[in-house]
Amino acid sequence: MSEERSLNFLEEIIETDLKEGKYKNIHTRFPPEPNGYLHIGHASSIHLNFSLAKKYNGKCNLRFDDTNPSTEETEYVENIKNDIKWLGYSWDNEFFTSDYFETLYGYAQKLIDKGLAYVDDSTAEQIASMKGNLNEPGINSPFRNRSVEENRTLFEAMREGKFGDGEKVLRAKIDMAHPNLLMRDPIIYRIKHEHHHRSGDRWCIYPMYDFAHGQSDSIEHITHSICTLEFIHHRPLYNWFIEQLEIFPSHQYEFARRNLTYTVMSKRKLLQLVNEKHVTGWDDPRMPTISGMRRRGYSAASIRNFCETVGIAKRENIVDLSLLEFCVREDLNKHAIRAMAVLDPVKLVITNYPSDLSEELELENNPEDESAGKRTVLFSKELWIEREDFMENPPKKFFRLGVGLMVRLKGAYIVRCDDFQKDETGKVVSIQCTYIPESRSGSDTSGIHVKGTIHWVSVKHAQCAEVRLYDRLFKTDNPSNEEGDFKEYLNPNSLSVLQQVWIEPELAKAKVGQYFQFLRKGYFCVDIESTPERMIFNRTVTLKDAWAKELKK
Ligand code: ATP
Ligand code: MG
Repeated sequence: MSEERSLNFLEEIIETDLKEGKYKNIHTRFPPEPNGYLHIGHASSIHLNFSLAKKYNGKCNLRFDDTNPSTEETEYVENIKNDIKWLGYSWDNEFFTSDYFETLYGYAQKLIDKGLAYVDDSTAEQIASMKGNLNEPGINSPFRNRSVEENRTLFEAMREGKFGDGEKVLRAKIDMAHPNLLMRDPIIYRIKHEHHHRSGDRWCIYPMYDFAHGQSDSIEHITHSICTLEFIHHRPLYNWFIEQLEIFPSHQYEFARRNLTYTVMSKRKLLQLVNEKHVTGWDDPRMPTISGMRRRGYSAASIRNFCETVGIAKRENIVDLSLLEFCVREDLNKHAIRAMAVLDPVKLVITNYPSDLSEELELENNPEDESAGKRTVLFSKELWIEREDFMENPPKKFFRLGVGLMVRLKGAYIVRCDDFQKDETGKVVSIQCTYIPESRSGSDTSGIHVKGTIHWVSVKHAQCAEVRLYDRLFKTDNPSNEEGDFKEYLNPNSLSVLQQVWIEPELAKAKVGQYFQFLRKGYFCVDIESTPERMIFNRTVTLKDAWAKELKK
């Protein structure tokens, strides 16, 4: 964390707690539910919890909040761990809420013994209808006054599987007239005859979130339990359970969920995109998931930097995707090796260059980093250049190619365009130039100055590759806020595939995950589907924010 910025509200709380001796050590946790992959919103929470622990010499646990057997899977557990490690964080302990099922059961018995919990036979509908609303108090359940003895026996019978799903629940006995609806005798255990990814078939009753989260925090001696704003109304209940059970006083604090423009963040929605094949999987490079961003070429450092830059807020807000892209560019600019690739090729022939000659040219790997060294690029008579770098009728101030115009070929020579040919459809198929032999980069004695430099790849040496270009996943900046189904707002052009891109031969040796800056074209990385025979590159991000330009027009 940078030292210059002022403390955020959680740091202020922690510093006060430490000063007043409320806790000796700080202990935080990141508590994902293993029902999906982590996304950039989770990264904010991860960064926050791990950084606070680090800053105050405390600890941070990873706890899988796995109390719902219907949606959780071991596959998710492994991927979540992998993503956190990749982001660059390491947890002090790894726990599962399901490890506490026996302890939590004991806690429930304790509440029963204190006359603070009862078994209710009412149906879900009946319970809901007795709940009241913000203006009216609720109604006591006819089962509310069962004896401790009877409650104990029934709760045991629930555990033993004597009842079917939904036949009975265990409720905390608080106050059916409480102004906070969550305090109106909340359900704390329900019956679910379902297989759990870790406890198997050992249990058929499962604690509700509110009767698991705070207690798990307490078992682990978590001092600052940070969650998102929607849990603010749960806080009185969190405290009530801890007080009544007389267990370690963990405290809950809330911060605003992080949202990002042009995407959706809820796991439920992301799962729909995957299941309905709007994307190729959780790790599709267009997804806001950590695995998607990694595959797309976002570096872990840039994601951490983004999380640090946006910081935390107390009010719900939406962060501009371009800020994340800015962080990605900033980091990749420092580390990405430069290379040349021609995405939309047209052939350029240097008529006065010997047919059998290949020159070895030295090009910088990264002008931002001298230690990155140089690489050899081969130059010859026939080159691929970008179609857009030539114009049949160039306007004034077009500093690239057109008949009579001159341009520098990156790291090589200045050429003058003499002629070009079109096919029967009017498409330019070939451009002829002459080169100035004295103008070679590094030893230019030609005295000629040109304004433009273009990239190229030697036809004789080039390798063919596939390039996948990505755009925003959604057309509107906040698809979750739009009317109707959020999927109606998917951007139909979020992926375009270029099948015949010409790359420097060196690039054909690149490994999966390696990233590059293709000169003038953006940052690219090798996709996981790439093979040495068929190289596939993802465009991570363009060099400039094309959308910002679009808006200025
Ligand atoms: P989702 O709504 O995306 O399914 P969730 O809150 O159900 O998210 P969990 O696995 O329960 O997902 O979340 C683990 C932790 O990450 C929680 O502490 C949660 O508050 C936090 N978290 C989840 N989404 C965000 C977000 N968009 N911004 C910040 N923190 C988040
Ligand atoms: Mg959740």
